[in-house]
Parts: sequence; structure tokens; C-alpha cells
Amino acid sequence: MNIIFDFDGTLIDSKERLFKLFSFLVPESELNFEDYWTLKKKGIGHAEILEKKFKFQSNDIQQFQIKWHQEIEQPKWINYDTPILGVEDKLMSLFENHQLHLVTARQSYETAINQINKFQWNKYFKSILVTKQEKEKSQLILENIEIKKEDWIIGDTGKDILTGKTLQINTAAVLTGFLSEEKLKSYNPDIIIDSVANFMIY
Ligand SMILES: [Mg+2]
Repeated sequence: MNIIFDFDGTLIDSKERLFKLFSFLVPESELNFEDYWTLKKKGIGHAEILEKKFKFQSNDIQQFQIKWHQEIEQPKWINYDTPILGVEDKLMSLFENHQLHLVTARQSYETAINQINKFQWNKYFKSILVTKQEKEKSQLILENIEIKKEDWIIGDTGKDILTGKTLQINTAAVLTGFLSEEKLKSYNPDIIIDSVANFMIY
């Protein structure tokens, strides 16, 4: 069986990175980590936060989005990422009987690979697919993996669940990432689990 993992928010905790970069780009923000993630987990995007809380005009929002895109994968921010607790053991045990793959919507293939190598997880993955934001995850998966209906995709966003639905495979949503349980439920995943460490084949 193929098991396809998302990266940010699923295998690694990127919440500190995103919060730190937001605080850097919006120095007037007094949102703390909890405030920021309470908004984000409800599915409220940066544009709405900036407009409603900080009275940004559309031009300022656009500037913010450009800078965000330029900065978000820079090493100074990437270094804030940490592995989700228990991921290593889970990958090790699933690897024994299944084909594991990683798919991420990162811009940079090199940055993603370097990070995976740093955690020494490369040995577990049969393929590491990076969209570079040039194509959909579902398209990239179809081009590289021979998908069967019993396969699984595990991710932390609605987009990951929709990718699984498009591919007609099983979907697992994890609560270690960027969306709340309530928000994830609206995408109707097959299962919702606290963390990838709790993933079992059902
Ligand atoms: Mg993710």
C-alpha cells in the first residue's frame, strides 16, 4: 500500500516559523502565538487578518503576500521547524510493510530535501514530490505513483483531503497543523487523528 504524507504541519511543526515571519513582516502586530493560530486555524487568511485587525489596504496586503512568498522558505525561518513528536517511530514501523511517499507544495525542492535529510527521514521515502507551486499535488502524485484505492494520504489542510478525494484514496486529517478539527471536518476526511503518530491502517 502507498501512504502519502504531507510535510508541513503533518511530519514537521511549522507553526513557529509562520508566526515568527508574520510578526517580522507586521511589526505593529501584537498578536501572540496563540492569538495568531486561533485565527489561522479557523481558516482565516492573512489578507483578512491584515485588513480587519491592521487596516491594511489592498496594496499593502499584496506587498505582504509577495514578501511572505520570498521569505517563507529562507533558512532563517525554516530553522524554526521541528519534527512532530513520534514521527520517526511511525515512519520506521510503516516503512516495513508499505511504500511511503512525501508530497509538499513547497517552492524549493532543494530546501525540502535538505530538511528531510537533516531529520534523516530520506531513507523512509520511495519518492519525495515537490510541486514547486507549479502543479497540483494530485497531478504530481498521478505522474509518479501507481495509485490504488486502498492507498492513504495524510495531511493537515483541506487541500490535502481534497487531493485524496480527487485521487479516490483514503484520507486522514491530522490536528498538528494549520487547521482546527471543526474546519477539517468540513472536508469530510475518512479519519481525523491528533497526530500522524496515531495513524494506523484500518
Ligand atoms: Mg501541510
